[in-house]
Amino acid sequence: MIYLKSEAEIDKMRRSAQLVSRTLAEVAKHIEPGVSTLKLDHVAEEFIKRHDARAAFKGYGSPNNPFPATLCISINEEVVHGIPSERTLKEGDIVSIDCGVEKDGYFGDHAYTFTVGECDEESHRLLRTTLQSLYKGIEQAVHGNKIGDISHAIQTHCEEEGFGVVRDLVGHGLGKHLHEDPSVPNFGRKGRGQRLRTGLALAIEPMITAGSWKVNTLDDGWTIVTADGSRAAHFEHDVIVREGEAEILSTFDYITEITKKEIIDSRYG
Ligand code: MG
Ligand code: MG
Repeated sequence: MIYLKSEAEIDKMRRSAQLVSRTLAEVAKHIEPGVSTLKLDHVAEEFIKRHDARAAFKGYGSPNNPFPATLCISINEEVVHGIPSERTLKEGDIVSIDCGVEKDGYFGDHAYTFTVGECDEESHRLLRTTLQSLYKGIEQAVHGNKIGDISHAIQTHCEEEGFGVVRDLVGHGLGKHLHEDPSVPNFGRKGRGQRLRTGLALAIEPMITAGSWKVNTLDDGWTIVTADGSRAAHFEHDVIVREGEAEILSTFDYITEITKKEIIDSRYG
């Protein structure tokens, strides 16, 4: 069921989204060759606790195999849901970090893909295109449009660049729950699907590969990898549908203050 948020609820969601933004920036300070992904997870866990919030991913999922960590950390051919471990980052890796928090009963959930040291040009092009597609999707998240308009904008942009659009995982509504209706696929047709109305809160999250869109799940039951071993990128923002222009609750500004790396020249570049 879809429900629209009041301005009071949106205020709480904005605080949750901004806490995720600040957590990702805190993690960004530690991203370098040699750091373990478990260390990054501890940084995030401590930061979230200090801000009186709960890490939303920890314990998420089925009781037999709940997600064990604060962050999903996915390296190179891992698309999403990678589990932090003693594995260390290496020069030239790309690493997608997804973080969720619950604060005052409302969720924030967003993600960024970082480069580790110097990366090859194809990886930069993948990251740039995925980020551009996120903003192209957000441009469509306005009152009166349909979910398919968001999906189509993301898919078209990424496929024009020769990249694969993952089908098995999609964006979603959020608010009092980490995942709410509606689903927000990164592929689809213009003018199709649910109509968007002011106050609808969406997590828009293109998951894009440098090769085929096909993915597999590793034996840990969580980590999603590309079937062909190509690299993948993932960027996610929390947005509110409004008249004329969506409001983006989350921000990458804190991250770029730390990394000093702009992977695109401008938001819509
Ligand atoms: Mg996420
Ligand atoms: Mg999400």
